[in-house]
Amino acid sequence: MKIHDVVIIGGGIAGHTAALYTARASLKPIVIVGFEPDQLSLTTVVENFPGFPDGIMGPELVSNARKQAEEFGAQYIEERAASFSVKEDYFEVKAGEKTYNGRTVIIATGASARTTGIPGEKEYFGRGLSTCAVCDGALFRDKEVIVIGGGDSAMEESLFLYKFAKKITIIHRRNSFRASKIMQDRVLNLKDKINVIWDTGVTKVLGDGKFIAGVKLKNVKTNNESELKCQGVFLAIGHTPNTKIFEGKIGLDENGYIKTDKRSRTSLEGVYAAGDVQDPIFKQAITSAGAGCQAAIEAERYIEHLKAMGKYEKS
Ligand code: NAP
Repeated sequence: MKIHDVVIIGGGIAGHTAALYTARASLKPIVIVGFEPDQLSLTTVVENFPGFPDGIMGPELVSNARKQAEEFGAQYIEERAASFSVKEDYFEVKAGEKTYNGRTVIIATGASARTTGIPGEKEYFGRGLSTCAVCDGALFRDKEVIVIGGGDSAMEESLFLYKFAKKITIIHRRNSFRASKIMQDRVLNLKDKINVIWDTGVTKVLGDGKFIAGVKLKNVKTNNESELKCQGVFLAIGHTPNTKIFEGKIGLDENGYIKTDKRSRTSLEGVYAAGDVQDPIFKQAITSAGAGCQAAIEAERYIEHLKAMGKYEKS
């Protein structure tokens, strides 16, 4: 049975950075990347990753990071990690038909777009309803769309849609945005196409059974109900961490994020977590990359510790 020094789960910037560092440390990491695109691959230009004064496209940044890790010997597995188990002196990750055992595991499974659960949401997903303007925005050329949410993602989605849509209405449940000031300002300055409806929730997605035709709205202060015609609905209401396979095995917080200490260590010795799966606060490409680096250095130290204690057997 082969036991790898490091098994990394996740194919975002945190996972690639952990792969780069552990590969450079000659730990020959196995990186299980799954099939869903990471957050950066769904974004457009990244203007806040240091070293790129003209910005860099998200997909390019993340694919370059993977290439860099592969150059140093990281081995990528295109399979979804289906289970995680704790064995006596290693950890087991099942992915596809295979099992990957690791003396250490770095979890970088990220977070997925949240949905509201309102009637019509499931029915019209992919038929006018989307969680990714970068992926689907071009389909809404000259159409009227709404964006739900008030954070940076909602601003970013609106700015992207501005290039295509005829009209964008942001529906936000409060009377002020959570987004950073710079992003808010950019959006609020585009009054020719972008309009905001405050203090309002979307209660139903309406359509003809095939495509979206509008939404039902309810003002949370007055309880007044109304309808708004639109052909597209973009959900930008945050994310849920991808931690299902770790439930009951690793300490999670009340929202399901993996709890880590300042050194990216989880509640299990030898298991580290990096990126959006353990960070409900910053969620930036640069902080994810930084956490991936930390997790990798800790994993390397742990391997050295096992060797020093005579607990490491090469297999
Ligand atoms: P977020 O900051 O958690 O914002 C989520 C927004 O959706 C909030 O305005 C929230 O309303 C609203 N919301 C949540 N659940 C809802 C529901 N069920 N119905 C209606 N509205 C709901 O999430 P995010 O915008 O995805 O950003 C996450 C992190 O990534 C942030 O730290 C952000 O700065 C970062 N980010 C940065 C950039 C950038 O710098 N370019 C781009 C994207 C994201 P309330 O405000 O009332 O809670």
